[in-house]
Amino acid sequence: MKVSSGLGRLSELALRQRRQGLAKQLPPVTDILRGSLVQRYVTCGNPACKCAKGERHGPLWYLTVTLGPGKTTGGIVANEKVEQVRGWVNNYHKVKEHLEKISEINRELLRRERDKRRKRKQGMKG
Ligand SMILES: [Zn+2]
Repeated sequence: MKVSSGLGRLSELALRQRRQGLAKQLPPVTDILRGSLVQRYVTCGNPACKCAKGERHGPLWYLTVTLGPGKTTGGIVANEKVEQVRGWVNNYHKVKEHLEKISEINRELLRRERDKRRKRKQGMKG
């Protein structure tokens, strides 16, 4: 019935501390980029270029971003920007992961409050 996440064994204080720790570890929200860095071979658009005959340029770093079902956007990332972009993409996953964990903790805290209230009610009746 209950999904076990391991949080149930922790005290309320430990849960709050864990939540605080997760919040502190969050990367700056300004340094976030959703997408994937991939390597691609591309054409430059010049019909006289060798790439027009199939000898494409690359591999080049390319950022691809899914906007919706079957809809993507992206662009070439300069070599000197790759490290930064990779960091931003990693931050995105970290933030997502942390927010999910914080949500899990908050659900557990809510569940405990509910249990406490229920017990208090039962206590009054009994
Ligand atoms: Zn070309």
